Amino acid sequence: AKAAGKDNLHFFTGKLDQQSDERFTLEREMRLALEQGGFSLAYQPKFDRAGQIVGVEALARWQHAQLGNIAPDRFIPVAEACGLIQPLTMTILRQACQAIARCNHQRSQPISLAVNLSPRLFERDHLCRELASVLAECNFPPQWLELEITESLLLGDTEHIIRQMQELQAWGAQLAMDDFGTGYSSLAYLVRFPLGIIKIDRSLVAGIESNEQQRMVVSAVVTLGRNLGKTVVAEGVETPAQLQLLQEMACSQFQGFGLSVPLSEAALHDRLQ
Ligand code: C2E
Ligand code: CA
Ligand code: CA
Ligand code: CA
Repeated sequence: AKAAGKDNLHFFTGKLDQQSDERFTLEREMRLALEQGGFSLAYQPKFDRAGQIVGVEALARWQHAQLGNIAPDRFIPVAEACGLIQPLTMTILRQACQAIARCNHQRSQPISLAVNLSPRLFERDHLCRELASVLAECNFPPQWLELEITESLLLGDTEHIIRQMQELQAWGAQLAMDDFGTGYSSLAYLVRFPLGIIKIDRSLVAGIESNEQQRMVVSAVVTLGRNLGKTVVAEGVETPAQLQLLQEMACSQFQGFGLSVPLSEAALHDRLQ
C-alpha cells in the first residue's frame, strides 16, 4: 500500500485540473507580461472635503492579446501563489511613481500616490529597502506615498509586521488600512498598528442611504478614526446622497465611481488641469 504520494494526484480530475491549468497559463503569461511591460495602471482620484483631488490610488490592469482583460482580483492571487507578487508590485510602483512625479512636477500642492501591498510582501525582511530603492530611482519622495494594506496582514506574525510597518512609517510613507469594515476588522487594530489612514470599505458605504444601522456604524468609525488623528477615506462613493451623508459625518476624503472612475495617466493629467 504505497498508494500515498504523487499517484494520488491523479485521483483529482475535472474541475481541479482545469483550475490548475488556468493557473499555469496565467503564471506563464504573467512572466512574459512582466518582461514585456504588459501591465498598465489606472489611477482613481481621491477628493478632499472641498472637492479637490488630493491623491490617487494606482490599480493594476492587464490587457492580454488573447485572453482579453484580466481583472486584478483574478491575477493578484495567482501572482501571490507563484512568487511573482514582489516583481509585479515593484513594476507597478515604478510606473506609478514615474507617472505621479510627472503630475506633481508643475504643482504647488503635490498629490499623493497610494499603492496596494499584498500581505505576502511583508513575509520577507527587506520590504522597506526594496520600496526605497524604487522611489530613489524615480526621485519620488516617500512623503508622497501611501501603502494600502488589508486586515488579513494583521492576523500574521504581529511583532514582525509591526516592526516593518514602523520602519515604513519612519521612512516617511503613510500606511492605510484598506477595506476597513470587512473580514476580521477590529477596532483594536486602529490603536495597535501605525496607521495614518483608514479606508472604509464600499460594502459599508453602499448601505448608508437605506440602512440606518449601517449609517450609524460608518458614522461611528469616522468619528473614532478622526478622534484618533487619522485620515478617514470613504471608498465606493457612487451617489450624491452618499457623498452628502459622508460629508455630514466629517469624513476626510472620498473615492468612488460617482466622483471619478479610475483614469489613464493622460485622463488624470486633464482632470488635474
Ligand atoms: P481595492 O484596493 O479595494 O480597490 C478598489 C476597487 O474598487 C477597484 O477595483 C476599483 O475600480 C473599485 N471601485 C472604485 N470605486 C468604486 C465604486 O464606486 N463602486 C464599485 N463597485 N467599485 C469601485 P479593481 O481595480 O478591479 O481592483 C480590485 C482589487 O484588486 C483591489 O481592491 C485590490 O485589492 C486589488 N488590486 C488592484 N491593483 C493591485 C495592485 O497593484 N496590487 C495588489 N496587491 N492588489 C491590487
Ligand atoms: Ca486599495
Ligand atoms: Ca479598498
Ligand atoms: Ca478590496
